[in-house]
Amino acid sequence: MPSLEKRGHFPNPYMASRDEVASRRTDVQRRIRIALNAAKAEERASVKGGETTVAFVKEEQCIGCDQCTIVCDDDAIELYDKPLASPLMKVDINRKAKILRDPCTGCRLCVFACPTDAIIMIDR
Ligand code: SF4
Ligand code: SF4
Repeated sequence: MPSLEKRGHFPNPYMASRDEVASRRTDVQRRIRIALNAAKAEERASVKGGETTVAFVKEEQCIGCDQCTIVCDDDAIELYDKPLASPLMKVDINRKAKILRDPCTGCRLCVFACPTDAIIMIDR
């Protein structure tokens, strides 16, 4: 088969090669990752914590997913059953998280782990 040039197809000098596109994509991904990490670090730094604070669960936002109890090293979170009054779902019990104030050290790990932003830090 004749070459592309012989068939009248000439490479477009302005078109990027696959390698160039892959290289640019890697570079953009790296810059996005750096920006997201910086934003996350800034957000985390803005959450207060420490001995003078204690975690608090906003019950209406808690979906009982158990993520907070997994990350809490101080056994300061318990789940309890709460009746669920919904005609749409065939479950009658929903689980909710509750903070035990005394063992809570204010470490904030549960705040970062909660997928629904149900946990906030409040003053003791
Ligand atoms: S702030 Fe730390 S110690 Fe307190 S409940 Fe959350 S994870 Fe546990
Ligand atoms: S991680 Fe958040 S949503 Fe899940 S059980 Fe704990 S407080 Fe509730």
